[in-house]
Amino acid sequence: MITEDNGKYIDLHTHSMASDGSMTPAELVRHAFQSGLAAMALTDHDTVAGVEEALEEGARTGVEVIAGVEISVSLSEWGFNPDEIEMHLLGYFFTDGYRSLQPVLEDLRRRREQRNPKIIEKLNGMGIDITMEEVAAKAPGGVVGRGHIARVLMEKGYTASVEEGFAKYLGTGKPAYVSKDKLTPEQGIAVILEAGGVPVLAHPVLLGLERGQLPAVLERLKKAGLKGIEALYSENTPEQTRELLEVAEKTGLKVTGGSDFHGIFKPEIKIGTGRGNLKIPYRLLEELKDMQVMKKKYR
Ligand SMILES: [Zn+2]
Ligand SMILES: [Zn+2]
Repeated sequence: MITEDNGKYIDLHTHSMASDGSMTPAELVRHAFQSGLAAMALTDHDTVAGVEEALEEGARTGVEVIAGVEISVSLSEWGFNPDEIEMHLLGYFFTDGYRSLQPVLEDLRRRREQRNPKIIEKLNGMGIDITMEEVAAKAPGGVVGRGHIARVLMEKGYTASVEEGFAKYLGTGKPAYVSKDKLTPEQGIAVILEAGGVPVLAHPVLLGLERGQLPAVLERLKKAGLKGIEALYSENTPEQTRELLEVAEKTGLKVTGGSDFHGIFKPEIKIGTGRGNLKIPYRLLEELKDMQVMKKKYR
């Protein structure tokens, strides 16, 4: 079980305005500092654009900042329905290797950006008055996602909440859903490894897998180079956390944890503590760092 650790706690999953969070990278690091965290990872979607600013603020405040990223991959080639199963991979970089990711991520980002006009078109076809300009204005960091579209829908009175925007229009399988052109899990893992990073499976409870399917999926990911699993996560029930810790031990994967903090865009999730159910010991970060040292030795 996850216990102790001299009161040093961390959060290895946060988003800034460089993707779909509400704080600048520097604000986010100051927020982590004020919340008493010893370390945090910045893991924006498909970009490392906020990392440098976060590292600088980390040096100023004394919070240990880990360069990270969160990459979406598709399991359609593994025989899963992409409308039902969505996988996110976290990458952690303990050197400046993350810089070499930028061209790859820019390509991913371009593909993602092509998706948004298609969603807007579908919504317009349903009689909803919404433009790309309105949506882009919600994303000063430049990475536009469905969350921004959902906000515009809410502000224009089409839905009562961001959640309803997903439930009614934008979620997988809903009328305005457009699938992304994504990497396979193997490609996603390779991209992280090639940049000298440590690949980790994000929030397994949100994968959408049936009970019992996870161990086989993890084995396959591990063969591809996966090193860890985000077993501690805001949306887990205590029961799910127990199961994930067990499966991590069985498959020999390291345990990580993160809140998936998005600032005011997910106000119920607090940095470090999630829904009040998280306490992520610093020791997990040290174990993750060891994975990278091992990798270097084998090179
Ligand atoms: Zn995610
Ligand atoms: Zn996330």
